[in-house]
Amino acid sequence: MTENSSASAVTTNACKQCAPLGATVAFKGIEGAMPFIHGGQGCATYIRRYLISHFKEPVDVASSSFSDDTAIFGGESNLRVGLDNVARKYAPSLIGVSTTCLAETIGENLPAIMRRHLESKQGAAFPLLAPVSTPSYRGTHVDGFNAVVRAVIEQRASASDRCGGVNVLPGFVSCADLRHLKEIIGSFDIPYTLLPDYSDTLDAPTQSDYVPLADGGTTLAEIAAMAGRDATIQMSRTLAPEASGGSWLAENRGVPLHTLGLPIGIRETDRLVDLLSGLTGRDATKWLIGERGRLIDAYIDGHKYVFEKKVAIYGEEDLVAGLTSLVAEIGMTPVLCASGGASGKLAAAIRSVAPNCTPVVREGADFKAITDELRALKPDLMIGNSKGYKTARELGVPLVRAGFPIHDRIGGSRLLHLGYRGAQRLFDEIVNTLIARTQDESPVGYSYM
Ligand code: SF4
Repeated sequence: MTENSSASAVTTNACKQCAPLGATVAFKGIEGAMPFIHGGQGCATYIRRYLISHFKEPVDVASSSFSDDTAIFGGESNLRVGLDNVARKYAPSLIGVSTTCLAETIGENLPAIMRRHLESKQGAAFPLLAPVSTPSYRGTHVDGFNAVVRAVIEQRASASDRCGGVNVLPGFVSCADLRHLKEIIGSFDIPYTLLPDYSDTLDAPTQSDYVPLADGGTTLAEIAAMAGRDATIQMSRTLAPEASGGSWLAENRGVPLHTLGLPIGIRETDRLVDLLSGLTGRDATKWLIGERGRLIDAYIDGHKYVFEKKVAIYGEEDLVAGLTSLVAEIGMTPVLCASGGASGKLAAAIRSVAPNCTPVVREGADFKAITDELRALKPDLMIGNSKGYKTARELGVPLVRAGFPIHDRIGGSRLLHLGYRGAQRLFDEIVNTLIARTQDESPVGYSYM
C-alpha cells in the first residue's frame, strides 16, 4: 500500500465540503432544530444550494449575515438579532449555531454570546441554543458533522437514570441508510437513540403547504437518554477520540463504546449484526439472514464480471473504507482510495478492511491529485460522488455514484449503502455498470449473457 499525502500549496476542485455544511446536516437530524450559520450570507447560500441540490428538499438555513463592519467589530449584535428573528419565525426547540471561517478568524466567542443573549431574556422562554465551532480551514463537512454530534451530546446527554438500549452514531450517511439502520436495529427489539436522524427532515413526503421545520429527527428526550444507555455503537474507523461523541459518553457518563466501520458489504455488516446480537442476547432475525443469503447468491452470480477489475474510490474517509471493504470482498482490485479528509487514519482503516489489497491511499486529496493518480493507475471503474464526474469523463471511466454530494442525478438521499441490502444495491450497480461498458464497446453488440 502506498500512502501519498504530498502537500500542495493550493487545492484544485476539493474532494470535501465545508465544515458548517456538515454541521447543518447534523442539526437537521434533531427534532425541531433550526440550523444557523454565524458568518456571511455567501456561506449560508452555498450550503443551502448544495443541500437542496442533493436532497431535493427545501433547506432553510439562517445566517447572521456578516458585513464589512461585522468582520471588523464582531458579529454579536447581528447574531442576537438573528436568533430573535429565528425564534419568532420558526419557533424551534433548538437553534444550532455553527461558525464560518470568518467568524473563527476574528475570534468570535459563541458560548459567551449565547450566554449573554439568554441572560438578556431574564427567564423568558427561548429556544435552546447549541453553539458549535466549525472552522472550515482545518476541517471538512465530516468534521463539522461530528462536531455537532459531540457538542449536542456534551450539552444535552444528561439523563441520570439507566434506561438501557444503545446509542447509534452512524456518521454522515444517506437518508436511506438511516432508515435501513433503524430497520436493522429495530429487528433486535432494543430501545435506541440514533443521532442524528435526518431521514425524514431531509427526505420528507410531499406536502401541500410549506412547512418551515419538517417533522422528524432525534428528539431532545432521546438525546438526554443517551447518558443512560448500556452501550454506544459508533460507525467510524477514522474519528479521533477527542472529536467523538461516543468517547465523551464513555469518559463522562460511563457508557461503553463499541467502534465499527460503516457496515458496507457482508463482512462489515456482519460485525454490526454480531455486536447487536451480543448486546441484546438475540439472534439475527430470519429477515436479516434472508437478506444476507440473497446477497451471497448475487455475489456468486456476478463474481465473474467484477473479478480483478481495477477500481478507484473517493469521498468521505469512512465511506471510502467501507466501499473498499465491499470491493475487496467481491474480488475487485482497489487501486486508489482517496479522500479530502485528513484524519491520518485512512490507511490503517483500509488495511483493516482489505488486508490483502495494496491501493494508493491519499488523504487530503483534491480532484487534481486524484485525476493525476488515475491517469497512471487506469481504473476500470470509479466509485464516489458527483464531484468526480469531470475526472471520470475526462478519463473515459464509468462512475458509480455513492455518498455526497449527488448533484447530477436524482435520488441522492435514497442511495442505500449500508447493510446487506445496501451492499446488494451497490453490487448490482457495479456489475451492471461494468457490463454496460463491455456491451457499449463490443463491435457486434449482444443482448443476452
Ligand atoms: S468561507 Fe469557510 S465557511 Fe464559508 S463557505 Fe467557504 S469554507 Fe465554508
